[in-house]
Amino acid sequence: MDRYAVMGNPIGHSLSPLIHKAFAEETNQLLLYSSILVEAGEFPLEVSRFFAAGGKGLNITVPFKKEAWELADNLSAEANLAGAVNTLLKDQEGKLQGHNTDGLGLIRDIKSNYNCIIEGKKILVMGAGGATRGILLPLLRERPESVCIVNRTLSKAEELAQLFSKYGAVSACGYDELSAGEAKKMDWIINASSASLQGELPPMPGNILSSDAVCYDLMYAQDETVFCQWAQGAGAMKVMNGLGMLVEQAAESFYLWRGIRPTTQKIIQGLRK
Ligand code: NDP
Repeated sequence: MDRYAVMGNPIGHSLSPLIHKAFAEETNQLLLYSSILVEAGEFPLEVSRFFAAGGKGLNITVPFKKEAWELADNLSAEANLAGAVNTLLKDQEGKLQGHNTDGLGLIRDIKSNYNCIIEGKKILVMGAGGATRGILLPLLRERPESVCIVNRTLSKAEELAQLFSKYGAVSACGYDELSAGEAKKMDWIINASSASLQGELPPMPGNILSSDAVCYDLMYAQDETVFCQWAQGAGAMKVMNGLGMLVEQAAESFYLWRGIRPTTQKIIQGLRK
């Protein structure tokens, strides 16, 4: 049976085995998908062991996405710019291909599952870490009016704004600038910071949302994140979390490996429950 796995540390919490098992059942694909705990310093060895033993494809999660990017022989445009790889497979010549499906997963969740549009919208992206790097190119391809990256460490936001400026109107700012003077109204706020993980909310002005604003927290949790709570209170028209993105990025990986696109609605609904 074809073997796939997710590698990370920690890995016990990963929903990927459950999601890929559901995809395989739905599409009648015979495959095994497991999770592999990898110790620091062992990642390149574990990857070569996995493929040498006939493994077909890997998902990569925290903290190895950058190492996977370094290890890949060929990179997709998204992975190359993101500086991070979440999907690995061997091509027909035996070369290791690296992809980043996080951004595509976000866009698919927003467009297909929530029927929302990004084109022509003013977007604020919070955070300038790996997740932001991964979503910027797919986001800019949707032709928003503008994307502003706000980050605690301004220099990181500025670096990303410069890197992605050739793909659209991208700027950078600090949280203090959001609150200074009359806040610029945003149509979208995407929280790609990890503040929600710590139960924290960066200093957001209450009057920043446009009348039909949409807010999306990349983090997903059983209880509403602090960011989602803030968005509700600030009057957002729609508030979403990253569970759909998680399932959609997995579906993109599955498609890269198997050439078949699974449906995602049922599993997203199941996981929400
Ligand atoms: P990184 O560690 O690479 O980056 C974290 C970012 O958050 C940095 O820009 C950091 O700012 C900022 N930050 C952290 N704490 C705070 C705070 N208290 N206030 C303000 N800013 C803060 O993380 P990732 O980019 O990999 O992940 C970000 C989030 O995205 C996580 O919650 C993760 O779970 C989620 N994610 C979800 C996915 C999904 O499929 N749904 C996929 C990938 C990620 P600074 O630069 O100043 O340190």
